[in-house]
Amino acid sequence: MRQPPSELAARLESVRARIAAAAEKARRDPREVTLVAVTKYAGGEQIRELLSLGVADLGENRVQQLLQRAAQINEYHQRRLAARQESVPAKIRWHMIGHLQRNKVRQALPVVSMIHGVDSLRLAETLEAECDRTGRPMQVMLQVNASEEPQKHGVAVGAAVHLAEMIAGMKHLQFTGLMTMAKYGATESEARFVFGRTREIFEELRYHKIGGPHLRHLSMGMSDDFEWAIQEGATIVRIGSAIFGKPAVTEDDDDEPNQD
Ligand SMILES: *Cc1c(COP(=O)(O)O)cnc(C)c1O
Repeated sequence: MRQPPSELAARLESVRARIAAAAEKARRDPREVTLVAVTKYAGGEQIRELLSLGVADLGENRVQQLLQRAAQINEYHQRRLAARQESVPAKIRWHMIGHLQRNKVRQALPVVSMIHGVDSLRLAETLEAECDRTGRPMQVMLQVNASEEPQKHGVAVGAAVHLAEMIAGMKHLQFTGLMTMAKYGATESEARFVFGRTREIFEELRYHKIGGPHLRHLSMGMSDDFEWAIQEGATIVRIGSAIFGKPAVTEDDDDEPNQD
């Protein structure tokens, strides 16, 4: 007899079903929405199980933890592939979803597939210079502070198009889209306002052909608001606690002091 699904498998299944339902409600194809499983509060065992459930996109908001995690998980992944375990994805993509400090760019780049939180010209230039050195392109997204919270990372709404244009003009950076976050505890209308505003900027970029064929992603929506984000056009949702459970200790989630 088949074993009943684990708690993790059941939560993943529920998240996938909610993504599909939200997409259908918005008359969108659910396959347009990529789930990035945010592993910052997950245990190694949980991440390994998630791989066997076919999740290929993993996200971390801190470079140090991303590097540690990626070293362990990528090695496990290679072993599963060598053992021809069919259910594991062919490739893992690590997403850097938090604020990236310029002094960590060199360490992060070899491991990550996509950087969601580019929010300054200086950071983009550092990334470009490093990609030039290694000869490897990198997909980047511009983080927009569409909720206009002073403590939040991200470029101001009014500066987004200009900065996007500069990043899109850089030789090694593939300007892939925009990332945003609604306010913590936002109501539906507050969250949808923030997501809708970010989508409007995205449409403006598309209209002006900024980013060209690479421009295709809106990274928005977390455990508490991903269905609203999908309604507003999200193509990537970043989900942690709805998959892994709420963290036991509520940790201060802010960045380390900024060194740049
Ligand atoms: C932690 C985090 C998430 C996931 O948050 P949950 O509410 O646990 O789903 C998404 N995006 C970023 C940038 C994060 O830091």
